[in-house]
This record gives sequence, structure tokens and C-alpha cells, in this order.
Amino acid sequence: MEYPELLEEIFHAVQPYVGKGKVADYIPALAQIPADKFGMSLCLMDGREYVIGDADEPFSIQSVSKVFSLVLALNRLGSQVWERVGKEPSGNAFNSLVQLEYENGIPRNPFINAGALVVTDWLLGCSVDPTIELLAWLREATSNPGIHVDLEVADSEWEHRDRNAALTHFMKSCGNIHSSVDRVLRTYFEHCSIAMSCRDLARAGLLLAGHGKSPRCSDRFLTRSQAKEVNALMLTCGTYDAAGDFAFRVGLPGKSGVGGGILAIIPNLMSIAVWSPALDAKGNSMAGVEALERFTTLTGISVF
Ligand code: GLU
Repeated sequence: MEYPELLEEIFHAVQPYVGKGKVADYIPALAQIPADKFGMSLCLMDGREYVIGDADEPFSIQSVSKVFSLVLALNRLGSQVWERVGKEPSGNAFNSLVQLEYENGIPRNPFINAGALVVTDWLLGCSVDPTIELLAWLREATSNPGIHVDLEVADSEWEHRDRNAALTHFMKSCGNIHSSVDRVLRTYFEHCSIAMSCRDLARAGLLLAGHGKSPRCSDRFLTRSQAKEVNALMLTCGTYDAAGDFAFRVGLPGKSGVGGGILAIIPNLMSIAVWSPALDAKGNSMAGVEALERFTTLTGISVF
């Protein structure tokens, strides 16, 4: 089956799941997003691109940004990033405090909130403005100069920052946060509040399908090994406390966010982005996971 027909088939098959589940409302600005959206984009290494549904509508990428923050930190700092953040699945909620106390303020991985807050702190130590650097890279990788931080969402996260503030203060008390807590939080919320479409997201993901060199960018951004590391962490830690289920059903490295977006990578071949805001009980897009499962089942392509 050709990709356009495949996308049509998936689009129709997932309709019963679109709007099922719950749109995240703990960040009030996200609660206003209509639940019935669905978009999907395939961006291939050879330059072909296929989209369906609401694939050109920008949405809040939320935790998908943790992939890009990590990529930027690895680019700037290399393997020293791992001195302050682990590489193991957490088995706890994305904003959990419990493990931090047992592990001296070292977060289990960079894709839970605590881990991304440490990555943000690393970035603040080596960049005057990590958000501007991140946006510059995303704009180049997507050819979309309009990618921006949605300040309404960032402000909404700031207003409701208690849990993330608690995580950051605790890690600071352990010596694992070096900048001011407010600066780390503000920068982290800016990254979570970046607005991108599925088309943008799939284009940006080509870096990871291309083993650290996106065919859309002039320079290699990560080494082959670093790209492998990021993909491995996406597979094992990228979809909240359902990474095992996601690997079982979809069989690809993936990173989801509470905005309903998921970025999935097929090394050497393509990057896939899906978006549908209603989430399942674990916080992953209900229709998004269904769509990716159908994609790998119908094509027979996965990393396994
Ligand atoms: N900005 C969100 C938070 O920190 C990110 C949540 C997510 O997408 O997992 O709560």
C-alpha cells in the first residue's frame, strides 16, 4: 500500500478513538483545546512527506520538547550530561517526587519532569538563552520560521508550577540544580510551550531517523552514538509509565506529551508525528497510539 492510502486507512480506522479519553486540564490553557482533532505526518529521509487531518495545526508539544532539549544539551555538552541524570525507566508518574529522595536528587531519566529540569539547568549553564537556541534549531530543521513559544501556555504553566517547583527545589537541595529555581522553571515551561504542527514535528525528528544528521540541515548535530542514546531512551522512557505497552504495541522509539502529540522514529527511514489531544489514563494520546500501532502493523515496519 502506498503511504497516502495508508494514511487514509489509518485516519478512518482511528476515528472511534478521536476525542475518547481526556484532554489534559492541569495546565488550564491546554484544557481549551478541542478534543476532536487528529493529525498525522510522515517525513521520509528521501524528502517525501505525507500528511493527513489537522497535520498543519500547531499544538503545544509539551513533553515532546524534552527530546529536543536533550538533543541540544548533548550537542553542547556531550556525555557529561549523564553525570546528573540517569538512563532508566522510572516506573513512576512523570512528575513524581518519590524516587528523587532515594537517589540523591539524580532523576532516573531525561524524559520525566525532574530529568528535563536538570537538562534545562545544564543548558542554562552553557547558553545565554537556551530557548532562543532551541527555536533557532527547530526553525532550521523544519524550514518554518514561525515556530514559537506559546506564551499563554507558558504563563499558565508558571501559574500552576507548584509540583515542578517542588522537584526543582528538592534537586537544588541535593546540589543537582545550579541556576536559580525560577530561571530553570521559566525556561523549562518555555520549552514545553513551544507550538508546532505534526508536519513540523516529523521534520524535526529526521535528525534521529538520520542517526544525528538531518537531511534537512547542513551540519551534523549529534554523533551516531548520541542519536542511538536518544532513540533508546525514547523507546524505554518516552511514553510515561506505558513505555512497555507502547513498545509492545507500536515497536518504535516514541516521545509523547500531555498536549496529545507523539513523535516516533523509524531509523534510516522516516520520522512520524501524530496529534490528538484526548489522552488515555497514562497520559498518552489515545488516537495517536492507535494510529501508530496501525501504522507499524499495516506496514510490518518496526525496530523489532
Ligand atoms: N509542562 C508539563 C509539565 O511539566 C509537561 C508535561 C508532559 O507533557 O508530560 O507538567
